[in-house]
Amino acid sequence: MISVEEAQKIILEQVIQMNSERVFLSNSLGRTLAEDIVSGLDHPPWDTSAMDGYALRFSDTEGASREHPRPLKIIETIPAGKLPQKTVGPGEAARIMTGAPLPKGANAIGMVEDTETMDDTVRIFATAEEGEYIRVKGEAIRQGDPVLKKGSKIRPAEIAMMASIGKSVVPVFQQPRVAILSTGDELAELDEPRGLDKILNSNGYGLAAQVLEAGGLPINLGIAKDSKTHLQEKIASGLSADFLIISGGVSMGDYDFVLEVLESLGVTLRLWKVAMKPGKPIAFGTKDGRPVFGLPGNPVSSMVTFEQFVRPSILKASGRTHIFRPLITAVLKEDIHKTPGRRQFLRAIVSLENGTYHVCSTGDQGSAILMSLVMANAFMILPEEGDCINAGEKVYVQILSEITA
Ligand code: AMP
Ligand code: MG
Repeated sequence: MISVEEAQKIILEQVIQMNSERVFLSNSLGRTLAEDIVSGLDHPPWDTSAMDGYALRFSDTEGASREHPRPLKIIETIPAGKLPQKTVGPGEAARIMTGAPLPKGANAIGMVEDTETMDDTVRIFATAEEGEYIRVKGEAIRQGDPVLKKGSKIRPAEIAMMASIGKSVVPVFQQPRVAILSTGDELAELDEPRGLDKILNSNGYGLAAQVLEAGGLPINLGIAKDSKTHLQEKIASGLSADFLIISGGVSMGDYDFVLEVLESLGVTLRLWKVAMKPGKPIAFGTKDGRPVFGLPGNPVSSMVTFEQFVRPSILKASGRTHIFRPLITAVLKEDIHKTPGRRQFLRAIVSLENGTYHVCSTGDQGSAILMSLVMANAFMILPEEGDCINAGEKVYVQILSEITA
């Protein structure tokens, strides 16, 4: 059986990057930049004051103190958003607000706390240094500077950066359309009447949510019966999407027809079965360059295999540079017995205790026990070798969501 890494390599090699499109900046959160972003302007656009106070010539304040204030003549007031009208000469100052452009002649700001004003005279109580409290033109961003990299995820910081340089429309990669098909005669939809022999289709919903979280656009194909003709019809309709995910029907059961049907529809199968737990019976193939995943039907296995194989593929297709979840090490809080020969992904809780990450399992790890995932904020990744890992040892942990203290 092939390893998780080998499977990821085989799969990711087949994933093609989406084309780019342009979207409004305010709609770009979570998308991936399709081009490097270069600033077309300086920020700030002029020298500005970093304080409310007085723009002055620093040499006029030499030796100034509370006991020996220096009087300066106030020649104008410059609010933020107004250009200065006058030049500050020797013995003069302009009242200035934070963010307002520095007037000609001034080379320092005396902050308002170190002054006292009477009529058109300000008394300065502190010696200013040259350039003090002045933000120099282009200090934050210089025209022509590369500010954001192609392949970055657009977060609030990237949005603010693009707004600050006037980019109201941004180049992003298109989001892959991901068709999701649930298979099994035992499945019923949530809102349809069902007999006692049915279980609810949870994978369809869970996978659609995982697709959305990864930045893809889910297309729900509903449920296919365990019949070759019905599977053929449903799978054929899913093959026009950028990705197709099928859950269930890829094991060795009498009614597991998915692999056979995929091949009959011209899908090239590239792998089947990976040395992992949960999730061993996963299949992957391509049709006309489009990835097709056959995930195991058990609800936990379906979500775990999505995380390891489908999520990085969606991120790669979306042009993202970093496609894997963050990996940390944590101290194991309990002895864990495991199956030798398979990489194990335990649903786990990571916590920060006295400055060190600790990790424990979420309890019963059966591959149908969704509660093990609900309680988890991470996967504990146990290596293939060995059958026991002891409390106190360090293990790798893949972070899925917020870590609680
Ligand atoms: P299979 O991989 O088709 O052999 O299914 C394995 C187990 O997962 C069976 O117990 C199925 O009932 C269950 N299962 C398959 N598909 C789903 C689904 N869409 N939602 C919930 N459970 C499922
Ligand atoms: Mg089945």
